[in-house]
Amino acid sequence: MTTNSTTAFEEGDDTADHKSPSDFVPDEIDRPALVEDIRDRVAGDVRFDTYTRQLYATDASAYEITPIGVVFPKSTDDVATTVTYCADRGIPLLPRGGGTSLAGQAINEAVVLDLTRYMDDIVAINPEEQRARVEAGTVLGDLNEALSPHDLKFAPDPAAGDRSVIGGAIGNNSTGAHSLVYGKTDVYVEECEVVLADGTVVTLGEISVEKLRLSADFDGSLFEQVCAEIVRIIDEKGDEIRDRFPEMKRNVSGYNLDVLVKEAETGTVNLARLLAGSEGTLAIVTEAEVSLEPVPTTKAVSLLFYDSVLDAVTDVQYVLEHDPAAVELIDDVLLGLARETTEFEEAASIVPNEAEAGLLVEFYADDTDHGREQTAALLADRTPKTATELPPSDDQPINSETFAFTGLEAHVADERAMFWTLRKAGLPILLSRTSDEKHISFIEDCAVPPEHLPEFVERFQSLLTEKNRDADAAFYAHAGPGVLHVRPLINTKATADREDMVAIADAVTDMVVEFDGSVSGEHGDGRARTQWNRKLYGNDLWEVFRDLKSAFDPKWLLNPGNVCGDHAMTEHLRYDEGYEFDAGFEPSLNWKNKNGMQGMVELCHGCGGCRGSQETTGGVMCPTYRAAEEEITTTRGRANLLRQAMSGDLPDDPTDDEFAEDVLDLCIGCKGCKRDCPSGVDMAKLKTEVMHERHEKYGASLRDKIFANFDTLAMIGSALAPVSNLVQSLPAMGTVSQKTVGIASERSLPKFHRETLQDWFDECKPLVPKSEAERKVVLFADTYTNYSHPEVGKAAVRVLEAAGVHVDIATETDSGRPALSKGFVDSARETVKRDVKELEPRVRDGWDIVVAEPSDAVMFQSDALDVCSGDEVEAVAANAYGLCEYLDTFRLDENVDWNTPVESLVYHGHCHQKAEKKDHHAVGVLRRAGYTVDPLDSGCCGMAGTFGYEAEHYSLSKAIGKILFDQIDESDAEVVTAPGTSCRTQLADSRIQPVSSNSSLAGTSLDRDEPPTPIELLAYALPR
Ligand SMILES: Cc1cc2nc3c(=O)[nH]c(=O)nc-3n(C[C@H](O)[C@H](O)[C@H](O)COP(=O)(O)OP(=O)(O)OC[C@H]3O[C@@H](n4cnc5c(N)ncnc54)[C@H](O)[C@@H]3O)c2cc1C
Ligand code: SF4
Ligand code: SF4
Repeated sequence: MTTNSTTAFEEGDDTADHKSPSDFVPDEIDRPALVEDIRDRVAGDVRFDTYTRQLYATDASAYEITPIGVVFPKSTDDVATTVTYCADRGIPLLPRGGGTSLAGQAINEAVVLDLTRYMDDIVAINPEEQRARVEAGTVLGDLNEALSPHDLKFAPDPAAGDRSVIGGAIGNNSTGAHSLVYGKTDVYVEECEVVLADGTVVTLGEISVEKLRLSADFDGSLFEQVCAEIVRIIDEKGDEIRDRFPEMKRNVSGYNLDVLVKEAETGTVNLARLLAGSEGTLAIVTEAEVSLEPVPTTKAVSLLFYDSVLDAVTDVQYVLEHDPAAVELIDDVLLGLARETTEFEEAASIVPNEAEAGLLVEFYADDTDHGREQTAALLADRTPKTATELPPSDDQPINSETFAFTGLEAHVADERAMFWTLRKAGLPILLSRTSDEKHISFIEDCAVPPEHLPEFVERFQSLLTEKNRDADAAFYAHAGPGVLHVRPLINTKATADREDMVAIADAVTDMVVEFDGSVSGEHGDGRARTQWNRKLYGNDLWEVFRDLKSAFDPKWLLNPGNVCGDHAMTEHLRYDEGYEFDAGFEPSLNWKNKNGMQGMVELCHGCGGCRGSQETTGGVMCPTYRAAEEEITTTRGRANLLRQAMSGDLPDDPTDDEFAEDVLDLCIGCKGCKRDCPSGVDMAKLKTEVMHERHEKYGASLRDKIFANFDTLAMIGSALAPVSNLVQSLPAMGTVSQKTVGIASERSLPKFHRETLQDWFDECKPLVPKSEAERKVVLFADTYTNYSHPEVGKAAVRVLEAAGVHVDIATETDSGRPALSKGFVDSARETVKRDVKELEPRVRDGWDIVVAEPSDAVMFQSDALDVCSGDEVEAVAANAYGLCEYLDTFRLDENVDWNTPVESLVYHGHCHQKAEKKDHHAVGVLRRAGYTVDPLDSGCCGMAGTFGYEAEHYSLSKAIGKILFDQIDESDAEVVTAPGTSCRTQLADSRIQPVSSNSSLAGTSLDRDEPPTPIELLAYALPR
C-alpha cells in the first residue's frame, strides 16, 4: 500500500492535525481478547479471523484496507454494546451495508458492523401513510419487492439497489437515474433509530428548532451536545452555508448542512436527514422510517441522437423543459462499444450510423396516450423533422435552436428496455479490462448545473487530452441533474499515473468550484474525494464540518477520515507501487486476455453484483451466495481472497488446504460469473488453476481421481451391468461410499446400461443415408449419455434423423470435462487431444459435431481452448454444437413433424450453456414445435457435475437446488425439461421423477420411424 501523503492536507497545516484524533494504534490491539470480549457481550457473530478481515478490506472502490474485525449484530442492542465497548477503548467503528461504495467509504481500519446479515427485517409497511419502517441492513430491492403489491416504492434508485441497503443509501445519500423527480435519499428519511458514538441509542427525526434549543447543552449528554452544536451551526453559520453550498440537487459532498439550514427557516428540522451522506461518520443507523412514492402507472422513453457529445449536453437544458423523469447521456465511446458487441447488436441496430452521442429521455405517464403526448412534444421540439406517433399539442415548449438530428420513441416495455440497454451497454466492456490500466472511479462523479454542462464537458475533455488520458474515457451521465460519470484509464501501480490522478482531480475540483458544482453528485466522498472538500467548501465550512463531526463523535471513532478527515486519495490504493503479484506457480491453462491469469485475478472491481438477486444479476451468478449469504461465498469474496493470497496480503499460499477448503471449495464452477459479472470474472477457471497446482504439489484425493476418471469407471460399470447396478443398490452401499470416498449417502449413483449408446448405434443402420443428407453429424456420446442415459442419445439420433441429418457416432466418449472440473488439467488436455484427433478430420470433411450433454458441448466449444491450442482444436470448437443449438442455428427443427404429447413445459437450462449464451436455443425450438414454454431465469441446479455428490457439499447443493425447485413450483407448466444430466439428477433426487419412468412421455421405445416428440430432444423431460 502506498503511503503517499497528498496535497490537500499539506497546504493547510492546521488541518493536518485532527481536532480529536483517534488514538487507536492497530498494532497494539489484543485481537483474541477483543474477540472474546465482544463475543461475550453480543448475540450476533464476531469474526476477527484473517479471511473475514480481508473479505471486508475492499468495497467497489480502488482502495483496500484491512479492518480490525467484523461483527454481525443481531439487534440495536448488539450495535450499542459493540459501540460502547469500542468507544471505551478508542477503537474505530465502521457500519457497512452491501459494500458497494465507489469512493472507499465502506472500508476502514476499524471494527466493521455488517448489518446485512441479521438486521434486514422490514418492520412495518403503512400503505395509507406511504411509509415503511425497516432495519438498516434491508436491501433496497427487497423493500421494493415487498412494496410492489401496494404499488409503492422507495424512490431513490441507485443502480446497485439489488444489493445495497437502506443504511448504505442513507450513508451515501444515494439516488439514481430518476433524481429529477425524486431527489436523493434524504428527502425520504423521516426518522432513524441510531446508536451514537458513545453507545447511546436515540431516535432522530423531526424536531422544532425551539425544542432543539431546549435540548441543546454543551455540557450535557452526547445527544444534548449534538443538539447544541447543531443550533450553533444554524445560528452562526447559516448564511455561509447558504452562500457556499452549490445550488444543486445533486450534491453529496460534505455534510447535509444546506438541507438543515433550509429546514430551520421553516421552524422545524429533521435531524435524521443530517445523517444522509454522512458516510457512517456521525452515527450508526439501526432502523429507519422512510416515506414512499407511488409506482408510476407507465413510462415512455425517447432517444435523441446527436453529431457530438457537446451537442447532446447543450440540448439537456431544453430537454429539461419537458419535465422528464430521467435524462441520460450516452457518448461515442459507449455507442461504439455497443456497436462492436454481439450481445448488444439488437439495441445498437437502432442507432443511426452517424450518431456520436445520444440522450435517453424517460417520462412517467398516467397511461400510454399520456406517454405518447410527452414524447411527441419532446421530439417536435428537439428534433422537429422526426415523425411522432401522436401529433404534438400546440402548447408545448418549442425552442428555435435544435441540436439532435433524429429521435425515436418507445412505449412498450420491451422497447423501452432496449433503449435502456444502450445506456448500460458499454460499461461492462470498460470494466472488463485485465490490463494494469483500469477505469477507476475518482472523478467519476462530479456535477455542475446542467446549463454549464457544455463548457464543463469541453474543458474536461481538453484536460484529459492534455494529460493524454482521453482514449476510452467514456462520458456517461445522469445529464438531467448535471452529474457526469467519467472514468479515465489509470494504472495506480505506476507513480506517474497516481500523480496524474491527483492533478486531474485537483483541476476538476477547480472547474467544479468555478461552475458552482460538486465533486460528488452521487457516489460520496470516501477516500477518493474527502481531500477535495476543503477546496470545494473553503476553510471555514471545512471547519464547520469538523465541528459537527466532533460533536457527534468526540473521539473521531466512527469511520474516521471520511468527509472532513485526513484521507488522501492516493493512500491505501488496492494497487500501488508496493503491490507485487506472485501466484507461486505458472498457469497451466491458456489465458488469452491481457496480463493472463494475473489479469483475471485482479479483475474484480468489487461492485457486489454477485450479491444481487436472481432477477437482477442475469440469473446464474452467484448461486453459492444466494444459498449461504456469506461474503466468502460470493465471486467477489473469492476473487478478493485469491488476489490477496497471490499478492502477499494474506499469508496463505492459495494451494494450501485451508485456502482451498475455505475459499475455493464452495465455488461450484457454474461459470455464472463468467456470464453475469460485468467484468467477466471467471472464477471457475481460476479455481481450476489452483486445483491443478494443488494436485501437482500434494497429490489428489481418491474421490477426485474417481470423478475425474469417471469415463473409465462407467465403461467398467456398463460392462458389468446389471451386477454393478445391483451392488450399488445394496442398502449399505450409501454408507460405505460416504465413509470410504466421501460420496453423499443420500445421493443415488448413476446406473449403467449394458447396451451403451454406441452399441445400439452400431446395431442399426443410419436412417438418413449420407448421400441424401444436406448435413452430416458426428454425435459425441459423452460418458453419461453413452453408459448411463443412452435413451438421451437415442432421442438425439431420432431427432437429428427426423430433421434429415445423416448421423454417425464418435468412438471417444470422454470430453475431458470430468478431469477439468476436478482440476486435472494435464489429463483433460490429453483427452481433448485424443478427441480432436478423432473429430478434426471429420470437421475438415464437412461434418458437424453435436454433443447431447450441455456441459460436454461447452467443453468442446470453449474449455478445450483453455487446455489446447492450435487450428485443430479451434476447428472442432467452431463446429461443435449442443443438440438444440444445432437444430436452432440451422433451423433444422422446421423439417420435423413433431408429436406433442403435452402443451406446456417449464425449461431449466444448464448453467454452462448459459455462461456461453447458448441457452436460448432450446426454448426457440420447443416453441416452434408448438409448446408453451416457461423458460426459468434459473442458475445452477446445485449439482454442478459431481459437487452435489460430495458428502460435505450435499447440504449446500440442496440449498442451491431449492432456489430452482421454488421457481419450478411457481410455474403452471405441465412438464419440467432440463437438458443437463446433473440437473435432472438433482431434480429426481428431490421429488421430480425422470421421464424414463413415464413411458408415454419418454418415448423409451424409441421407434425411429415414429415422429419424435420435441421433449425427447431434451429427452429428459420430467413430469411434475
Ligand atoms: C455498479 C454500481 C452502481 C452504482 N450506482 C449508483 C447510483 O446509481 N446512485 C448512487 O447513489 N450510488 C450508486 N452506487 C454507489 C452505491 O451503490 C450506493 O451509494 C449504495 O446506496 C451504497 O449502499 P451499500 O449498502 O452498498 O452501502 P455501503 O457501501 O456498505 O456503505 C455506504 C456508506 O454508508 C455507511 N453506512 C452503511 N450502513 C450504515 C448504517 N447502518 N448507519 C450509518 N452509516 C451506514 C457506510 O459506513 C458507508 O460510509 C453504485 C455502485 C456500484 C458498484
Ligand atoms: S465478481 Fe464481478 S459482480 Fe462480483 S463484485 Fe467482482 S466485479 Fe462485481
Ligand atoms: S463459478 Fe459459479 S459458484 Fe463459482 S464464483 Fe462463479 S458464479 Fe459463483
